[in-house]
Amino acid sequence: MENRDGTNRQPTRYRLENRSLKAFSHRRSYLRRTVDALRVQRQHARRMLQVVAAILAIGITVIGATAIALATPGNALQVQVMPMTPQLGDTLSVTIARTSSNTAPVLTLGNRTYTAFPFGDDHFRALLPTTPLDKPGKLTLKVSDNNETESVALQLRGRKFPTQSIWLPPGKDQNLSDFEFNRVDGFKKLVTPQKFWNGPFLKPNGGPITTVYGVRRYYNGKFANDYYHRGVDYAGAYGSPIIAPAAGRVALVGQEAKGFVIHGNCIGVDHGQGVESIFLHLSRIMVKEGDFVKAGQVIGALGATGAVTGPHLHWGLYVNGQSIDPLPWRTKGFE
Ligand SMILES: [Zn+2]
Repeated sequence: MENRDGTNRQPTRYRLENRSLKAFSHRRSYLRRTVDALRVQRQHARRMLQVVAAILAIGITVIGATAIALATPGNALQVQVMPMTPQLGDTLSVTIARTSSNTAPVLTLGNRTYTAFPFGDDHFRALLPTTPLDKPGKLTLKVSDNNETESVALQLRGRKFPTQSIWLPPGKDQNLSDFEFNRVDGFKKLVTPQKFWNGPFLKPNGGPITTVYGVRRYYNGKFANDYYHRGVDYAGAYGSPIIAPAAGRVALVGQEAKGFVIHGNCIGVDHGQGVESIFLHLSRIMVKEGDFVKAGQVIGALGATGAVTGPHLHWGLYVNGQSIDPLPWRTKGFE
């Protein structure tokens, strides 16, 4: 637009407007810069917060790791052994807290290795036998999972067992046939993952105990290093009932007439997780292999079959292949 004086000057009002527009756009750019500055500051702050959070996270992890390390010096496997001061013949119950690896630990005691089974929601448990043939003193239990190994020092207490003296004419001792030995040995080695028993075991016969667990023998005046009484003898009446001391599956039925000349008529019950009962010298067998029996169920009758001098029941309780003292299983029991 052209003015009267030929200049290009704009009317005052317009100039004012223009100036205020300029001022406005200036202010706007100032505002934008301020906003940008604030945004930058905010980004800085966010980045700083992230850094602080990362530092804190590392710090917490370090503190956490230190706390765990303090709880179990040098190792994260939590192992508990019961009883704390075992004696010869005791069963050791070993519980291990589950770790993140969540694999069943393997246990080693002496030259024997054992499997642990899930126990409750957050543990594994293994049952370890000790026998009168073990050497009392210091034992080292090793527990390993995928990641680590924990060593536990144990003190196995000695124990005096009663002794018997047996006098035999030369060549009179009976030997197990391979057939009988293999059947019974195979049964004692069973380790079924399921657990069938519950609570303390019942006594399998109402008669009085005549020979306790662990009795040692002298044969013709010489101490038998490998012998101990692998069970408990009950002198009930001939034909009196034999009951299953705990639930399980019948995994062995042997008959005197079919070659079980030492054990006589016998029943083997698998209670699961490496725990087995064997009942010898029966007059009657009332179950068959594969049957599932309940605690207290009558399974046979007391007799005098096999190598015996009179009617009685021999009950042997085995844990991972070894005959252990059934008494703790009868009194306190193992969960
Ligand atoms: Zn016996």
